[in-house]
Amino acid sequence: MYSIFRKTNNRTLDAIFPQHCVLCGSIVGAVPWFPAPLCASCERILEFISGPRCKHCGRELISENEFCMDCRNAQTLLAGIIPVFSFRGNAASLIHKFKTGQRISLAHYFAYRISMLDELTADVASSTCLVPVPPRPEKLRSGQLDQVGAIAESLIKFGFHYEKMLLRLPGSSQQKMLDRAGRLKNASQSYALLSNKKTIAKIILLDDVCTTGATLEACAKLLMENGNKVVSAIVLAAD
Ligand SMILES: [Zn+2]
Ligand SMILES: [Zn+2]
Repeated sequence: MYSIFRKTNNRTLDAIFPQHCVLCGSIVGAVPWFPAPLCASCERILEFISGPRCKHCGRELISENEFCMDCRNAQTLLAGIIPVFSFRGNAASLIHKFKTGQRISLAHYFAYRISMLDELTADVASSTCLVPVPPRPEKLRSGQLDQVGAIAESLIKFGFHYEKMLLRLPGSSQQKMLDRAGRLKNASQSYALLSNKKTIAKIILLDDVCTTGATLEACAKLLMENGNKVVSAIVLAAD
């Protein structure tokens, strides 16, 4: 009962009083990502990915060329994974608050930042379809937010469209408990295609945090085996 009240209360507060920054608590002034609860000062110190990135997983490259050490010999279906942030510091804290704290209005900020990515021109937005990676069904049943779905929904006002095409199977293990080999095997058994969906010629997958890329790769494989074309993926952060 308490958790239901707390959830409702947080969502209601988000809708009525979205102006307190989730990182510093100060009042959020006029920002382009309104009504997301993030102030301009905290936004400036977030860890955006800059500089050369791995062509596959999107992580920042330090001394490598084109691909990181993990991706150098990897066979991948996706042409690239495009992250907005590094998963560290203030950016990781913001994403963590979004994923666990039920602050649904942060979706507006993440959608705004995704829409600002150089790779996502207006042409790309209008000619592709976003497909969000679904949450575990247990998570939805316990009343928690489908945060990736919420970002996809927020992206509509930036000229994108999306389609929910995937289903996370009940009982599938959480990826974070597994090593790399385990993640690849688990991811390939964790998703199914929703029935009665048309095939789509240009899909961009959307997820929150990419660690090994196993989840995105499994989703891309499933969609492509069923006649869709997946071009790339966008994630909030590469870990
Ligand atoms: Zn702040
Ligand atoms: Zn890589």
